[in-house]
Order: sequence, then C-alpha cells, then structure tokens
Amino acid sequence: MKKMGLNRIVVGSSLSLLLLLLPAAVIIPHKPVNQINTIVIDAGHGGLDPGCNGANEIWEKAVTLSIALKLGKFLEDSLKDVQVLYTRKTDKFVELWERPNMANKNKADLFISIHCNSNTNVTAAGSETYFMGLHKTQGNLDVAKRENASIKYEANYQSNEKYGGFDPNSPEGHIIFSLVQNAFIQQSLRFSTLVENNTVKLSKIKSRGVKQAGFLVLWQTAMPSVLVETGFLTNASDRSYLKTDDGQKNIAKGIYYAIKSYKREIEKQGKTTSASAKDSTNGKP
Ligand SMILES: [Zn+2]
Repeated sequence: MKKMGLNRIVVGSSLSLLLLLLPAAVIIPHKPVNQINTIVIDAGHGGLDPGCNGANEIWEKAVTLSIALKLGKFLEDSLKDVQVLYTRKTDKFVELWERPNMANKNKADLFISIHCNSNTNVTAAGSETYFMGLHKTQGNLDVAKRENASIKYEANYQSNEKYGGFDPNSPEGHIIFSLVQNAFIQQSLRFSTLVENNTVKLSKIKSRGVKQAGFLVLWQTAMPSVLVETGFLTNASDRSYLKTDDGQKNIAKGIYYAIKSYKREIEKQGKTTSASAKDSTNGKP
C-alpha cells in the first residue's frame, strides 16, 4: 500500500505552479529580527517517514531527533532568555508544512532543520548547510528533491493548498519554487556560514560548504532559516560518527555555538542601529 502511494506521479504545469506560488511569496509575513528570543529546532522526518538509511544500520529520523534534543538541551541550559521549541521530540510524523507553520505561529526568530545526507556514491562525505535559493549544481537539487519528497508520505499532498501546487517530481517546479523571494536571505546566509563552520570545527565531519536549494521546509519561514545536512549516512566514516552519542553531541554543540554567535551578532547590530537612530534625532533639527 505504502509503496503504491510513493510511486504516484503528480500532474501539473509549471505555469500554474508559478501562479500559485507568487501570491504566497508576497504575503509571507516578516519582521525585522534584532533579537533572538525564540528558536525552532526541526528534527527532520519521523514516524512513518524514516528519511535516508545507512547500510541498514541507522535511519536518518533517529539521528536527527537525537541531535535536535541535544542541541535543545545546550540552548535550554545556557541561554535562559531563549524559548526553545521543537517540531517533534519523539518519533512521530509531522507534515512538512506544519514545521515552518509552527515557527511562524510562534513568531520564532530562528529556524533550524536537521537532516542527514545520502548518495549512491558511498565516498561522498561531509556536512552541507543550506539556505533557501536556486541550486547551483545538480547535486544540490538532488538533496532538495530527496528532502522535499517527504510530502509523499502525507495523505492528499497533491491537493494540499499549503504546498501551492508544488510538484516534488518536477525539476521545473523546484526551479520556480526556489526563486521565490525570501526576505531573510542575508541573515540566513550568515547563519548558515556559522552553522557550517562551527559544526565542522567541533566534529569529525568535514565541510562541503554552504549551499542553496529550494527546500519546502524553509520556503515559508518568516525568519532566518537553514537546513543542515550533518553528514552522509551512506558513507561508512560519517555514519560511524553520526550514530554515536559523542558524534551527535559534538554536532549539536557546533550548531549551539553557531546560534550563540549569531544571537550575539544580531543583538549587537540591533543595539547599534537603535543607538544611531537616537543619535540622528538628538538635538538636530
Ligand atoms: Zn532529511
């Protein structure tokens, strides 16, 4: 039964997709982010969506949940002024649209989606941190296609207006969709760089860089948002590290340091901006 559902093909034209997507792009709510008060941690996949698999040893959904919980603990223990929200804290299925929706509803200031990578080439290894935008390589597009395919586990995903007619089987669909303007692109780029640099510094995983692609889970977030592919479960070395408690903890710690640095930067900039705004109105006609 499940297999049949996964093989269904969605029929839809790129033009109708564009028409459906653009109005949504215009109405994305946003606010200037000068403070980091609420962070949403999104453990990729869960429940009936296991994500990718490494040599039948471990599933992506288990690794992402473990890293997410460890990251949350670091944040809760040391950033007392920050509210930490989780899209899931157990092995349950959460529809893809619901993840950014939770961040938007709670007016989150930062959204981080945690994943593991997979490739038919088992030598492919390392971490990649993504923010929303047009992919520059087929490899980046393939990552987004695989992650976006999670919606195929959702009943009636083809008619779900929350995806704006998006067709996960269509390459054109991915291109049009990734061109949707995101108000937080600069902040997301900065945060991605911090995530990539810090996780690589603190873990044994090597860096494959900061990249862009069209991820449904980042599409409608009204705050800086990134998706981190923490390593390849199809690579023996990455996998043996990603499945250990220590490996997961070091990656979580890297993301935690990235969040701390980003928060410090944003709040410093916010203070400078409000101070210079005051100066410019002080005693001047
Ligand atoms: Zn994933």
